Amino acid sequence: MHLSVFPPLRVLVASAVIVYCASASSVAAQDSASTQQSRVQILVNDLGDRLGIPDVIHVSIVPTNARLMSVEPVEHEFELKVEDGWADALDDSELTAAVAHELGHVWVFTHHPFLQTEQLANEVAMRLVSPSSLARMYDKVWKRTHVQGDLARFLGPEVARGLASPEPAP
Ligand SMILES: [Zn+2]
Repeated sequence: MHLSVFPPLRVLVASAVIVYCASASSVAAQDSASTQQSRVQILVNDLGDRLGIPDVIHVSIVPTNARLMSVEPVEHEFELKVEDGWADALDDSELTAAVAHELGHVWVFTHHPFLQTEQLANEVAMRLVSPSSLARMYDKVWKRTHVQGDLARFLGPEVARGLASPEPAP
C-alpha cells in the first residue's frame, strides 16, 4: 500500500524537473534577446544623434531575417530588425559598422528617398565608421548567408580598391 505511492511521486518529480528546465531556458533566451536589443539600441541612439537623425528608431530582435539586419519605416518611426544571434556574431566595430549602414538607409530615406542604394547608405555610414570595419562586417554577412558579395558595389570602386588587403581587427 505504501510502496504504491512511490511511482507517481517519481513521475511528479520528473515532470517538475522538465517544467523547470523549459522555463529556465526560455528565461535565458529572453535575457539573451534583451541583452542583444540593448547593445544595438545604444548604438542606434548614439550613431543616430551623430548623423543628425531625429527619427525614433526602435530595435527588435527577430527569430529570422534573411538580410540579418534591416530597417523599415513603420508609421512615423523606423524599426531596425536584427536576427537573433547576429549581434553576438559581430565584434563592437563590426556591429557599429552594421548599425551605421542601416542608419545610412534611414538618412537617405529621409533626405533623398529616390536615391536609396547600398553604396549611398555606406557613404553616409563612412562619416562615422571606417571602410575596413564595413568590409569585415560584409565578410561575416556573406559567409553567414553563403553569398559571394562584391565590395566595390557596396562601398564604391575607389574605397574597395583601397581595401585590397583589409587591416586585421584591432
Ligand atoms: Zn543596406
